[in-house]
Amino acid sequence: MLRRDLLGSLLPLALGAGTTLPCRAGAALPTAAAVPGGVAIVDLAVGSDAPRPAARYNGRPVLVREQSRRWVAVVGIGLDVDVAQPQALLMRREGDPRDRRVVFKLQPKRYAEQRLTVAPRHVELAPEDLARHERERTHLAQVLRSFNTAREPATLRLVLPAAGPRSATFGARRIFNNQPRAPHSGMDLAAPTGTPVLSAAAGEVLDVGDYFFNGHTVIVDHGLGFLTLYCHLSAIDTERGKALDAGAPIGKVGASGRVTGPHLHFSVYLNAQSVDPALFLPPA
Ligand SMILES: [Zn+2]
Repeated sequence: MLRRDLLGSLLPLALGAGTTLPCRAGAALPTAAAVPGGVAIVDLAVGSDAPRPAARYNGRPVLVREQSRRWVAVVGIGLDVDVAQPQALLMRREGDPRDRRVVFKLQPKRYAEQRLTVAPRHVELAPEDLARHERERTHLAQVLRSFNTAREPATLRLVLPAAGPRSATFGARRIFNNQPRAPHSGMDLAAPTGTPVLSAAAGEVLDVGDYFFNGHTVIVDHGLGFLTLYCHLSAIDTERGKALDAGAPIGKVGASGRVTGPHLHFSVYLNAQSVDPALFLPPA
């Protein structure tokens, strides 16, 4: 500890606030990508010998952790963000009642378009299905806003949650049965029904359910607003509140909900924004 503190105090504080940092390979942080649907890693210009500052983005708390003896914010960027607008975090240091603005820049990113054909009932919703979907959407939005300060993620690098080829369709603008719908909020892993689904990191089961679009679903809370979501399962082998190690089985691949066939839909959330899971996984 003494050596670590000494080294920390010797490091020059050279980077200005608002600098986004590249991420070392093998570090506990995701790959930085300051784009819509990506992760901005924003230097808060506070040495980690000081208490951890709090940071907010668009009114939501964001994950702050140590990197190279400094505090950095690991910010989920929404797919719908306007990159032309200035982006800013509000940072507050312990013992200081004032917020400080930490500005950062985003680059544009254009995502592909994807055309899919699914069962008509999952595109033109019957009134009872629409009412069900709206209830579920409200519930899921509330779950995904969770910011659990009692748990610190051991790492922000994830293990692959199912063996199978990965799609690179995160962010794709989707057209179901010729009708435009929300962009794809995750990665699809092609695998047969029954393939084990594993928790991508240590955490606690925050939600399980059977939802109109997502089918049988598990959401795992890794702490500080870092969540993972697993959809279209054929079986759920865990329960709400259960503590999980990285790689713990939570269910089986299936084809429940709105699908074209069996696969695992895998999403990653930071500060209630879905971000590209590829940024958190080892290279394919
Ligand atoms: Zn998907």
